[in-house]
Amino acid sequence: MKNTIESLRRELEQHNYNYYVLNSPTISDFDFDKKLRELQELESQHPEFFDPNSPTQRVGSDSVSGFEQVAHSYPMLSLGNTYSEGEIQDFYERVRKGLNEDFELVCELKYDGTSISLTYENGALVRAVTRGDGEKGDDVTANVKTIRSIPLRLHGNFPDKFEIRGEILMPWAVFDALNKEREEQEEQLLANPRNAASGTLKLQNSTIVAQRKLDAYLYYLLGEKLPSDLHSENLKAAHTWGFKISDATHVCKTLPEVFDFINYWDSERKNLPVATDGIVLKVNSIRQQRNLGFTAKSPRWAIAYKFQAEKAVTRLNSVSYQVGRTGAVTPVANLDPVQLSGTTVKRASLHNADIIASLDLHIGDMVFVEKGGEIIPKITAVDFDARILVGDKVHFIKNCPECGSELVRIEGEAAHYCPNENGCPPQIKGKMEHFVSRKAMNIDGLGSETIALLFENKLIENIADIYELKVPDLARLERLGNKSAVNIKTSCEASKEVPFERVLFALGIRFVGETVAKKLAFAFKKIGKIEAATLEELIAVDEIGERIAQSVLKYFSDERNIKLINRLKQFGLQMQVSEDKLQPAGNALSGLSIVISGTFSKHSRDEYKTMIEQNGGKNVGSVSAKTSFILAGENMGPEKLKKAESLGVKLVSENEFLAMIEGEIKKPLQGFTGTLF
Ligand SMILES: [Zn+2]
Repeated sequence: MKNTIESLRRELEQHNYNYYVLNSPTISDFDFDKKLRELQELESQHPEFFDPNSPTQRVGSDSVSGFEQVAHSYPMLSLGNTYSEGEIQDFYERVRKGLNEDFELVCELKYDGTSISLTYENGALVRAVTRGDGEKGDDVTANVKTIRSIPLRLHGNFPDKFEIRGEILMPWAVFDALNKEREEQEEQLLANPRNAASGTLKLQNSTIVAQRKLDAYLYYLLGEKLPSDLHSENLKAAHTWGFKISDATHVCKTLPEVFDFINYWDSERKNLPVATDGIVLKVNSIRQQRNLGFTAKSPRWAIAYKFQAEKAVTRLNSVSYQVGRTGAVTPVANLDPVQLSGTTVKRASLHNADIIASLDLHIGDMVFVEKGGEIIPKITAVDFDARILVGDKVHFIKNCPECGSELVRIEGEAAHYCPNENGCPPQIKGKMEHFVSRKAMNIDGLGSETIALLFENKLIENIADIYELKVPDLARLERLGNKSAVNIKTSCEASKEVPFERVLFALGIRFVGETVAKKLAFAFKKIGKIEAATLEELIAVDEIGERIAQSVLKYFSDERNIKLINRLKQFGLQMQVSEDKLQPAGNALSGLSIVISGTFSKHSRDEYKTMIEQNGGKNVGSVSAKTSFILAGENMGPEKLKKAESLGVKLVSENEFLAMIEGEIKKPLQGFTGTLF
């Protein structure tokens, strides 16, 4: 069995390598997942063969703990930055004089992420540490293990012990998707992929890290027994061991070659899937690197050249403020149209009050606008030399531009909010648009223009009114004929079948996105139970933190929201997890006390808890002699494992459990074939 497990592990690592490093998969995602599940199952049946570097460990763990500080074996210095060809020439001259012999320079792309140091011993990843202050950093090994392009086990001819450094990145596609999601939730957008990557790496929950799909490029080896004296050769060797090394690595013998590399990548980098912000030059020979040594802050044998961000100067004409569905107020700068990276820019984001204050903006100022790859251009500075006539200073507004309410700012948050949730037109309309959207109630025919029209004609004042719309009233509106009116009505009726978790999402409670709504729905099962839940009960649900819990409490403490929900209930909307999910599905688990431990891949822990109840079982928190069995997922706590072993309590894997309640294994205690200690 041990051999089967190990050969599966090796096979999956090879597929990971083919996919994430070589970009040439030789297996379908479906087959990969199938094999991974097979391995997960074998491992859960044989915890004695546990390996912290198994491919199954890349799914993350939900254990929460602080990060340990670890000292770097070699200080992790940052590079000196240059911004012009002249400065590169100076660097070249310094190296030439310092060495007084021939030398080569390796040109590499400077990836814009967060630095990481990885230590490998006997071909296995043992530690991943952030740069920190350069002397010591945070041990983020658990999170780094979720990054598929970082090998957990090496192949080929690698040294017993070495360190490799590189950059952890969030690809543009992931960054854009994440920001789109945040925009929908009206949360503060992530500034750039670099911050997003370093923020992700510091998350306490590695399951979420795994979902973020980070990538990594490695660029420097350290150790006693490296394969070559040439940095470029060491990188090639590292590639054969399984590391992702950039193809954009070039050995240059002369300065013109270096400048060719820079010029080529200055434009070509825009086609890369990840962010880059410059070029790094390194002396190729490690012996020569040692001879040149370090200054107090950075190596003398390497330097970074930073690309110019694309920038334009234009006039600030005015600042307007947009109010979203949750009341968040976004300041937008209106500019004289200007060309930037091939598009005409007329507006730029000003993010929040702090940013406005730090820029010292006045109306009529000439401002620098940058587009660093982010979706919305931003103002980075004022051209103070061009300020001849001083216009009005821009102050963040104190009152809502739509309803006049005094704005509030929640402590610890950058955004200002209009608190007039039920009386502020853009908030009401925004909530309706969200309510009818495809992922929520999926009501056709109610676009933002129609909603605005209905609102202005006082046909709807809140989301419940949507269900009282009458065909003749709708048909009378301009642009809306009888046919469309009937369609809207039919679609409203159909939405009464939309499951509870989506209804909960549709209500538009701040911070309750799709996933959170699902978690809440399955944990509490009925709207009444959520309404009655305490802060502690809410936080006890997987992935629900204090911020979300507070927002839920606030929503249900408002009489108007309760009234709204009661009306929706009367119209027949689903306000509990559907009958067949709630009613006993069987009695396969009748009389059994079951403990859930670890993380699962097919259903969430809350879903399993529901299934246990539906099948007549009882959920218990801790292992005792009375425990019938443990539903054991990945990374089960060692204490529980030990206790189960000493009491002779059985472990049941996810698949075995599902088979049990499907009736495939009718009598779990007699016909059961699972793991026995
Ligand atoms: Zn308002």
